[in-house]
Amino acid sequence: MPETAKKKKPPARITIRDDRCKGCEFCVMFCPQDVLEMQGVLPVVKDADACTRCMICESVCPDFAITVE
Ligand code: SF4
Ligand code: SF4
Repeated sequence: MPETAKKKKPPARITIRDDRCKGCEFCVMFCPQDVLEMQGVLPVVKDADACTRCMICESVCPDFAITVE
């Protein structure tokens, strides 16, 4: 039987290490998909489904606090 259902890629796993993050907001400002938002002094994932794994947030983070898998 042919496989007709398209397999959807799972959403990106975005990890923010609060022991490293200093809340500079760079990741929030530079994300082209508006995936992240600030919640108090730390960024949180608002919409992981929208993430394209472009890795911009990782690149701009000065403290290597955010990773995308
Ligand atoms: S990988 Fe790209 S789209 Fe995903 S959260 Fe980071 S900047 Fe946004
Ligand atoms: S860019 Fe890095 S240090 Fe700055 S708010 Fe985002 S995760 Fe935190």
